Amino acid sequence: MEIDKLAIPNVSNDRPIVIAGPCSAESREQVLKTAEELHRYGVKIFRAGIWKPRTKPGGFEGMGSVALPWLKEVKEKFGMAVATEVATRDHVFEAVKAGIDILWIGARTAANPFAMQEIADSLRGTNIPVLVKNPVNPDLELWCGAIERLVNAGITNVGVIHRGFSTYDKKLYRNLPIWHIPIELRRRYPNITMFCDPSHIGGKRELVAPICQQAMELKFDGLMIESHCNPDEALSDAAQQITPSVLDFTIKMLVVRDNIQTTENISVLRQQIDEVDDQLLALLAKRGRISREIGLYKKEHKMPVLQTGRYHEILEERVRKGEQLDLDREFILAIMKSIHEESVRIQLSL
Ligand code: PEP
Ligand code: MN
Repeated sequence: MEIDKLAIPNVSNDRPIVIAGPCSAESREQVLKTAEELHRYGVKIFRAGIWKPRTKPGGFEGMGSVALPWLKEVKEKFGMAVATEVATRDHVFEAVKAGIDILWIGARTAANPFAMQEIADSLRGTNIPVLVKNPVNPDLELWCGAIERLVNAGITNVGVIHRGFSTYDKKLYRNLPIWHIPIELRRRYPNITMFCDPSHIGGKRELVAPICQQAMELKFDGLMIESHCNPDEALSDAAQQITPSVLDFTIKMLVVRDNIQTTENISVLRQQIDEVDDQLLALLAKRGRISREIGLYKKEHKMPVLQTGRYHEILEERVRKGEQLDLDREFILAIMKSIHEESVRIQLSL
């Protein structure tokens, strides 16, 4: 399936294509003030959510259709293209009727094939640019499925937004980037226009700039960044929104390389990494063979494969040793669990 670069009227495809604006349109004043500042800093595409899919009821659910004329005003006053999120057929009709230039589909909607099909069907015959966020769960096929539903309905002016994936454990990120998923998506659709949304990945202001830089290194085409004229007072996602001036600074500080020039300088280190990885693989293979021997012994002597005492011993001992080597506890735990799981699989298959 061929998907070409996104075409947004009056916007060039130079990297990074910046889409910025508040998480939510809150009032006419807030929308126009934020847009005016962003416009002053050269931002060409304005975003604002008006139908907000909140995880729990009771949160700010957006202003709804009354906010559409505010976006229209942004378009007329500042010549910016305006973008909003749609989740239902009615949203699509209202947004298209109001002259919204770009639609995006949120992470919760992209995870729902019925909603995606409804949106795709209601867009038939238009060629409005549509950006599909990744589904909340790290499921590449579901993301591709959402894109394909649009393309099959004849909507080919399609791009994607990587906004990270939900996890139960919230540590550094609000939504884990799991970068290899968008990288694999790019492999499948080499020309697709890919945006990164550092605001929802990071969940906090200070992470926006480093995530933007990471996205540039990975050749993302654009950035969708939440920006609010008064972030601390924002009605949704306050902690992750930045002011237009911080946004401007963030974009100016980005190092955007077309070809990764650093490869030369780090090639010796990369070689060493390759060698270490080869050794790791050889050791894992050896461990597998030994585990198989143990498995055969257990089978002969009618011993159970899973022995919890041994399992805990392995985990605790390895974690302790790992920590002595300055390795992260959680990292060692995850690796040892996975190695042990593989051993069990090998022994159960005998
Ligand atoms: C948003 O862009 O404000 C939003 C609701 O994002 P997501 O669908 O990624 O949670
Ligand atoms: Mn938001």
